[in-house]
Formats: sequence, C-alpha cells, structure tokens
Amino acid sequence: MFNLQGRVALVTGGRRGMGKAHALALAKQGAKVVITDINVNECELVADEIRAAESADSRPGRELDVSCFNMDVSNKVDVDAVFDQVVEKYGRLDILVNNAGIYESHPFLELTEEQWDRTISINLKGEFLVAQRAAKEMAKNKYGRIINIASIASGGVGVGIAGGAHYTASKGGIIALTETMAIELAPLGINVNAIGPGAINTPMADATKMPKEYMDAILAGVPLKRMGESNEVAAAVVFLASEEASYVTGATLYVDGGWLAA
Ligand code: NDP
Repeated sequence: MFNLQGRVALVTGGRRGMGKAHALALAKQGAKVVITDINVNECELVADEIRAAESADSRPGRELDVSCFNMDVSNKVDVDAVFDQVVEKYGRLDILVNNAGIYESHPFLELTEEQWDRTISINLKGEFLVAQRAAKEMAKNKYGRIINIASIASGGVGVGIAGGAHYTASKGGIIALTETMAIELAPLGINVNAIGPGAINTPMADATKMPKEYMDAILAGVPLKRMGESNEVAAAVVFLASEEASYVTGATLYVDGGWLAA
C-alpha cells in the first residue's frame, strides 16, 4: 500500500519544517520529488538527505529523482516559470502538497492592511495559484492528488488564535477552496483534500514565540498531551497522495493529537 513509484510530486515550502518531512516521506514511498521554497539553497540540503536515504534503500525498481526550484508561491510569474520547467523535465505532475505558509502575530486592532495582504497573498492566494496550475497539468492525465495544508485554526471547529485573525482567515479560505476544487476537479480524476495540523513542532511554531504557559495550557487540552511531529503529518500526506485515497476528496483531515475531540 501507499506505493508512489512512477508518480511525480511537488512540495511547496519544502526547505524545512513539515514541507521537508512531506518531501522525505513522498520520496521514501518512491515518488520523484520536486522541492520548492523561497530559499532554494536549503532545498538542496533536503534533496541531499533524500539522496542519502535512497542510496541506503535496496528495494528493487526504485528510481531516485529529486530536484529543487526557487518558487515564491504568491508570485504567478514564478509559479508558471517553475511549473514550465517541471513539466519539461518530468512530462507530468501527479501530486501537489500545497504547504508553504507564514505565521506573523499581530493583534487584530493593530493589524495593518499590508500585514493582512501579505498573509493572505502567501497563504491563500499562493495555494490558489499553485493548485490551479497543478490541476491544469494533472487534468492532462486525468489523475491527480492535491493536498492543501490548512490548520486546526481554520474556523468552524472552535479554535482561534489571538493575534492570528489574518492567518486563521487565510486557513479558513483554504478549506473553502478545497471543497469547491474537489467538486470541480472530480470529473478530471483529481482528488483534492486539506490537512488541518494541530500544534506541530516546527521552526514556525518556534517563531511564534508563544509563552510556555500558553502552549502548556493548549497541550493540557490535547488528549495526546504533546505537540505533533512533522513526520506524523507527513504520514497523512502520503495517504492522501496515494492510490488508496481514491474515494477521499473534499475532506479536511485534522492531525491534532485529538485536540478537536476533547
Ligand atoms: P515553516 O515556517 O517551518 O515552513 C514553511 C516554509 O514555507 C518555510 O520554509 C518558508 O520560508 C516557506 N515560505 C514562506 N513564504 C513562502 C513563499 N511566499 N513561497 C514559498 N515558500 C514560502 O512552517 P511549518 O512547517 O510549521 O508549516 C507548514 C504549513 O503548515 C504552513 O502552511 C503552516 O501554516 C501550516 N501549519 C503549521 C502548524 C504548526 O504548528 N507548525 C499548525 C497548523 C498549520 P521562510 O522561512 O523563508 O518564510
């Protein structure tokens, strides 16, 4: 199960954090992986890690192929230029993990228009631009898997973040986008799902500089009593990217240690 050999996958924001884990996990299942980020040098380090892991893997029929591109998801010219090169190189795209995102804390009453626009532009418009171009490529083969990374703080489930109105609005938009894309793209053989991670141990989580007492209070309400690790979200990505997820589309899978159940 979950064999991705022969599939071509593109991950955005893949130089670190969860994006890196998604790239590693997809490669481990046999996919050819295209790692993109706004810092391509660090993507190359992830590619080296994949190559090192793959060279130690003796499973038959494995074709190692990993490449890196600089791509700002909020810039359509950048997105099209990278996709042109990917299609030229691989001739197809099967899997997209729309992962790139930013979190910048600003109290609602002080939130400026520029701060609002920056978050919406990267988190929401970025996922739209990349998903639309990916879907156009996938439609040519009548096959695709698009995984949009949202958040547990996407609205509708009772989790807000003080200082994150712009962020939660962007993530709520991603779930709405996912549901409508799933309907429109189903006839084209493309399944579209979202993942809503809970509190995951990544550089972004560190950068929020959330006071320890606040994080402790959150984790006290999480049944598994700890933050999640990136590879635990990557496992959900692998499932949604696989043939085995053939009857799953338009869904949001929360990987949250039970937070929403508590
Ligand atoms: P990280 O900050 O560790 O990784 C995100 C990556 O995206 C970084 O390398 C970042 O680069 C890159 N990026 C930022 N802006 C752009 C852009 N315009 N174009 C391309 N790449 C860009 O975050 P996480 O791994 O924690 O988060 C991954 C996803 O998961 C995000 O969408 C996030 O919102 C979501 N998420 C995270 C949670 C958590 O607890 N960590 C919880 C719920 C959702 P740079 O560092 O230079 O900005």
